[in-house]
Amino acid sequence: MSVNSPIFIIDSMLGNLARKLRLLGYDSTYFPSIDDKKLINIAKNQRRVLVTKDQQLINTAKKQDIDVVCIQGDNEIEQIAQINSIIKLNKIEITTSNSRCGFCNNMLESIEKYRVTGKIPDGVLERFEEFWICKRCNKIYWEGSHFEKLQKFVTQLNDRLK
Ligand SMILES: [Zn+2]
Repeated sequence: MSVNSPIFIIDSMLGNLARKLRLLGYDSTYFPSIDDKKLINIAKNQRRVLVTKDQQLINTAKKQDIDVVCIQGDNEIEQIAQINSIIKLNKIEITTSNSRCGFCNNMLESIEKYRVTGKIPDGVLERFEEFWICKRCNKIYWEGSHFEKLQKFVTQLNDRLK
């Protein structure tokens, strides 16, 4: 992903959106619980785009020259479309080598198959050749059913953003 990709901080009520953005390769800071003041400080200091549903927070952020996206509704496709209408996103695609960990936002790294043996179910080992790991939380990724669902999501999203 290019150096110019937007980076985000996602408000605590939007955990699913944060996870999606990470898997799509966007650096998205998220805390399940954080107070508004800290949220604003991180957005400001790290120049992150604040994504929230909270109107009061939006007003506070705008006063401090923070880029804000106001989210409405619970549909994730629409939520990402709302982001894209304010902050132009790069071409949306899903490649595991570009993804960030959905749990902790760290970049994923490719890992040899023999090194994940014993750490994932045997059935997965038999069916897949390529694996990725998050070196921060040790979560292992492969292009299984989650990935297929995500690809479908990306197709729908690209149709919506046309
Ligand atoms: Zn992780």
